[in-house]
Amino acid sequence: MEERIVKFKSKESSSLNLHAIPGHFATSHSHINYYVDVTSIKTRASEAKEAAKVLYSKVPHHEYIDTIVCMDGTEMIGAFLSQQIENAGIMSVNKHETLYVVSPEINNNQMLFRDNNKGAIEGKHVVLLLATTTTGETIRRAMECISYYGGTITCVASIFSTIDEVDGTKIEKLFDDDDVVNYQAYPVTECPFCKKGLPIEAMVNGFGYSKL
Ligand SMILES: [Zn+2]
Repeated sequence: MEERIVKFKSKESSSLNLHAIPGHFATSHSHINYYVDVTSIKTRASEAKEAAKVLYSKVPHHEYIDTIVCMDGTEMIGAFLSQQIENAGIMSVNKHETLYVVSPEINNNQMLFRDNNKGAIEGKHVVLLLATTTTGETIRRAMECISYYGGTITCVASIFSTIDEVDGTKIEKLFDDDDVVNYQAYPVTECPFCKKGLPIEAMVNGFGYSKL
């Protein structure tokens, strides 16, 4: 499937590209006609830095930011984003006057923070950062987890998202389904590929894909 890869340019930065592979793929909650790949943005330092720069322009500059919670392997982008926020002198309530960049542990589909990381969430203003969002289910669960540990969501950002908000919280994004021409997500029971009897090529999530 890799030979079918298509590149889509960012409207906001000429040095950012999104890669996508057309086909028939399954996420945990839907079937999709493109696997959207943000691996290079997450793992190449120059691209992660550029993504952080664009994201920085989207985070609220007049609110507290203490912590960046990174999902789906977005830690390098989170680190560059924390640098931008620190350099700009955005207010934080942290005693040590720096930002935390953390990821929840995922255990049996349950997101949790151990006692050593709870201090990064409790009473803190949190930016939630994700790689790809289609149904918003991961965002919903992450927001629940953060508020369970006493954090307040300041901003939710996703590198790629096909939705604009989750339960009234706006999602800031670098790419959306307008950038990926003809991107479609279907409820599992309404997938036209399944109806035609076409096999699923790969299972995909925020970390990547596994071919079947
Ligand atoms: Zn299908």
